[in-house]
Amino acid sequence: RPSIVWLRRDLRLADHPALDAAVAAGGPVIPVFIHDESVATLGAAPEWRLGLSIDALGHALEEIGSRLILRRGAALEVLRALVAETGAGAVHWSRLYDPAAIARDKAVKSALRKDGIAAHSHAGHVMFEPWAVETGTGGFYRVYSPMWRAVKDREVPTPLGAPARIPAPETWPASDVLDDWRMGIAMRRGANVCLPHQRVGEAAAMERLHTFTTGAIADYREARNFPALDATSTLSENLTYGEISPRQCWQAGQRALLEGARGAEHWLKELVWREFAYHLMYHTPEILTRNWRRDWDGFGWSGDATRPEVIAWKQGCTGVRLVDAAMREMYVTGKMHNRARMIVASYLTKHLMTDWRVGLDWFADCLTDWDPASNAMGWQWVAGCGPDAAPYFRIFNPETQLEKFDPEGVYANRWIAEGQARPGPLALAYFDAVPHSWALDPKSPYPAPVVDLAEGRQAALAAYEARNF
Ligand code: FAD
Repeated sequence: RPSIVWLRRDLRLADHPALDAAVAAGGPVIPVFIHDESVATLGAAPEWRLGLSIDALGHALEEIGSRLILRRGAALEVLRALVAETGAGAVHWSRLYDPAAIARDKAVKSALRKDGIAAHSHAGHVMFEPWAVETGTGGFYRVYSPMWRAVKDREVPTPLGAPARIPAPETWPASDVLDDWRMGIAMRRGANVCLPHQRVGEAAAMERLHTFTTGAIADYREARNFPALDATSTLSENLTYGEISPRQCWQAGQRALLEGARGAEHWLKELVWREFAYHLMYHTPEILTRNWRRDWDGFGWSGDATRPEVIAWKQGCTGVRLVDAAMREMYVTGKMHNRARMIVASYLTKHLMTDWRVGLDWFADCLTDWDPASNAMGWQWVAGCGPDAAPYFRIFNPETQLEKFDPEGVYANRWIAEGQARPGPLALAYFDAVPHSWALDPKSPYPAPVVDLAEGRQAALAAYEARNF
């Protein structure tokens, strides 16, 4: 009997235990992607980028004689219909760990089993599943460093290869046409501005992994701090859709470490930050929506996203060069350098005294590497209310950061056109990307600061001190 592989955030062929299990069963395999509520609720950029990933996987499957069946609707209904149409006896998928996916998958599993269908979930999206790492007293890690120490020497199984062949059914069930899903509809800048900045699909991700782990990883520890440099792996967009597996990254990083690459251990540590974020989300799902430290409830942040200074933040027009460069980088490329993420998040939550959820939502709309766990952990970390968070009073000074990490202004000039006689293509691309309603013009003078940095800092500190933690 055929087996169905229900693909979600695991859009690859190699190192894919769910796909392997379906192939190993010996019958035909029907890969399916379902456009359900989890897709309908994505932000504009991640939805658009997911569409590219689905397209790439469809082509990769066709190359080995298989197909990707596309269906829209509630997952259980779609799977039941496919089982009825194909006579499938089993459904396999890779586990996800956000609360909505967990609830859906549990319901699907028990309903299918009641129908007499074998339903199997598999590991794959993280290296260490959230229940597989425990503190000495049996709980989960709330602090990163001990978690790193607990896992760094663990045996991580060697990644699996891609199946050479995926047995096809005699007749394929009907499939939607991807274009009809219009996954780029909310992302008007997708195809014309953002596309050249995406590296889509498994083959491209593996190539980048190889280039990075045999090259830039050596200087990663220091160079990763400089947003103008191409010094990090930029694999987050591939990891988030599962175009590459964390185990493949881990293995390549370990190899670089053995070969003496100085920055390799630091890079492996970043992969464990991702795992840490997943563990936190699994054990404390409220991290996605509420202050992780509840004593922050009632702090004087404003949740009003329509304040002019918040709009200026979104538009990259705060008058603070490093903040504006970063916000524009995200709008054009769908990505933002990690240091820049920390700086813009600090500026929003501290200088502008804005609730971190306002920033979290904007990132969820604009990032092509949007990941629920890492985004929430990142925002709560910077805001000061999260696990193992930066102390609130450590407020990034965007001017000092600019002097230290972009001393020649390469990054700022790359993204800010105003005031330049001959702005470069990326700085101008931003003006092509933004909606007309923002009424921005590269020939305008560069905006004046929306808040005085020293005053913003003082106001944030005063609010913090008045909190009486
Ligand atoms: P590299 O430096 O090459 O690191 C390798 C991998 O490790 C990354 O691809 C990523 O999977 C993981 N990683 C690195 N840093 C972190 C981190 N701080 N937390 C968790 N995982 C990490 N990352 C996302 O993938 N999606 C998000 O939506 C996201 N939102 C963020 C929001 C804020 C406010 C902050 C401060 C950070 C956020 N991050 C997010 C984490 C980090 O900025 C990105 O993972 C990183 O910039 C991706 O670039 P890279 O692939 O070149 O990373």
